[in-house]
Amino acid sequence: MSITKKIYLYFPKSETEKPIVYQLVKDFNLIINIFRAKVTPEEEGYLSLDVTGQEADIERAFAYLSTLEVVIHVGNKGLRWDAERCTHCGACVVHCPTGALAFADTATRRLAFTEDVCVECHACIPACPFGACSSSF
Ligand code: SF4
Ligand code: SF4
Repeated sequence: MSITKKIYLYFPKSETEKPIVYQLVKDFNLIINIFRAKVTPEEEGYLSLDVTGQEADIERAFAYLSTLEVVIHVGNKGLRWDAERCTHCGACVVHCPTGALAFADTATRRLAFTEDVCVECHACIPACPFGACSSSF
């Protein structure tokens, strides 16, 4: 029986030129549905995708990824941003790889959360000193 997992991959500079998605398809028989990506040669990058396949193949694929310097987050974790708790300090902005948390208005320095752009990496949760970013997972 095949299953689908939502995963988020973070690539350091050293890994951005490796054909990782190709390997996942070819070597682990996975069906890949990429719904957000930014991988630029010579820079860090991220990939947010669904992988579908046999559970054993997915486990093997994760084992392969763990041999690289790729950081893997698994799950459909959701991210809640609490506007009431947010003090607009900006501490989360540099940790958010997609710009989902960003100053919408640089003049007033008011932070805005754009949920459509969030890839649920959860990097903002430990970065926020006021608990404005959270997840129930
Ligand atoms: S989980 Fe937080 S850091 Fe990650 S993309 Fe979403 S808002 Fe940005
Ligand atoms: S770190 Fe937390 S309090 Fe500061 S701007 Fe980001 S969400 Fe708001």
